[in-house]
Formats: sequence, C-alpha cells, structure tokens
Amino acid sequence: MVRLALIAALCAGLLVPRPSSGTVHARVALIFDHAGASLAELAPIYAMHEPFGLGIFPNMRYSAEIARTAAAHGLTPILHLPLEPNHPADLGPVTGTVWVRMADAEIARTVERDLDSVPGVAGVNNHAGSRATADRRVMTAVLRTVKARGLWFNENPETPQSVVPEVARQLDVPLVVTGTYLDIPPEHIARNVRALIAEAERRGSVVAAAHIATGAPAVIQKMLPEFRRAGVVFVPVTAFLERRAP
Ligand SMILES: [Zn+2]
Repeated sequence: MVRLALIAALCAGLLVPRPSSGTVHARVALIFDHAGASLAELAPIYAMHEPFGLGIFPNMRYSAEIARTAAAHGLTPILHLPLEPNHPADLGPVTGTVWVRMADAEIARTVERDLDSVPGVAGVNNHAGSRATADRRVMTAVLRTVKARGLWFNENPETPQSVVPEVARQLDVPLVVTGTYLDIPPEHIARNVRALIAEAERRGSVVAAAHIATGAPAVIQKMLPEFRRAGVVFVPVTAFLERRAP
C-alpha cells in the first residue's frame, strides 16, 4: 500500500527531487549602464522588481530624476562617470568627462559637478576610461573625490593596465569590479545570459553589467524564469564591495 502510494506520488511528479542547482542560491549583481537620456527605456528594468544597479550618465536631461526614481524602485543609483579612453570616439555623446590632461583640482571639480547632477547616488562607476584608468595620478584624483563624498567605486575594466584596484586600496575606497558584460556583442545577449547563469552556479557569485540601449533589459526580463529555475538570486552590487586597506 505504501509502495503503491509512493509510485503514485512519483508518477504525479510530487517526489521528483529538485536539481541540486535549484537549492543553491548563487548570487548575481547586475548593473544596467547608460541611463539618463530617456525615462521610457527604464520600464522593463523597473518591471522586474529586482535590486539592480543603475549607472546614470551625468548632466543629461533626466539624470537627476532617474537617480531619485531608481532608488524608489529599489535599485542602486550609480554615477556612470565618463573617463578618457584611448580612442575619444568611444565616449559617445556624453559631457562631464575626466581627461588625463586635466590638473588634479580640475578633475575633482569635474567629478563633483557630475555627482551634483545625479544627487543621491550610492557609488560611481566608469564609462569608457581605457586611458584614464591606467593613469595613477588621474585615478588618485578621481577616487579621492569619490571617497570625500563617502561613496564607493565599481570598476568596469577597460584595460589590463588599470591601476584602479591598487589606488582604491591605497585610498581605502570600497571597490567592486565588474566580471562580465552581457551585451558584448549585442546580438548574443541570450547566450551570454545563459553563460552568466552557468558561471554563477559554478562560482557562487558574479558581478555583471549590461547597457540599456542594446535591448538587454527586455531579454533579461524574458529570461527571469531561467534564473529562478537555476536558483540564482539577484543581490545589490554593494554585497560585493571589498575594502582592502594596505
Ligand atoms: Zn558606459
């Protein structure tokens, strides 16, 4: 009788063991960068009700408004600070860029003005910056200003020559480094998202970034059930901040 009941339960799928990956809560911090020019494009991000980070460009039409509404939606607002790249065309149509030719005081003023245009951000991350993030003097001036405001830094690695981890450590600025981009190249977002889920299951945690205009938010929204099935949960990027004073 017991055996029959067991067989019946198995047939009904009641006793099918969950895959082991479903019981492990792998953690993903996901940051959507390039907010500021439009409010409508944020709708799929807000609709997911997850604690994503939102990188907001300075001095754009909706920069200040987005910084406010993002926090109200449970997101972590971040200043997406333009830093000089090796190829200036990579910057796109942004203002408030830190250039390596600037003196320290001008860098500090630039970062402060950018921060003032997105009041209430929790941290700062870099837009471009393959040249600036390799420059110790420039990154010292940038991170001193970040520290003076009581903020942290999220590095989007742009060059193997980056001095950001070292300078952040010296200045005791909490740092989190982005591990993977989901929309490079933009035509392979779904494939990259599946690779992210697999990496999160393997390593336990991943910090990922994507750009709003590539269509990544809508793709991720559609793929939320795949995250859930794998037992992957989204956590704020602040969960991975590291502070390694010398
Ligand atoms: Zn960017």
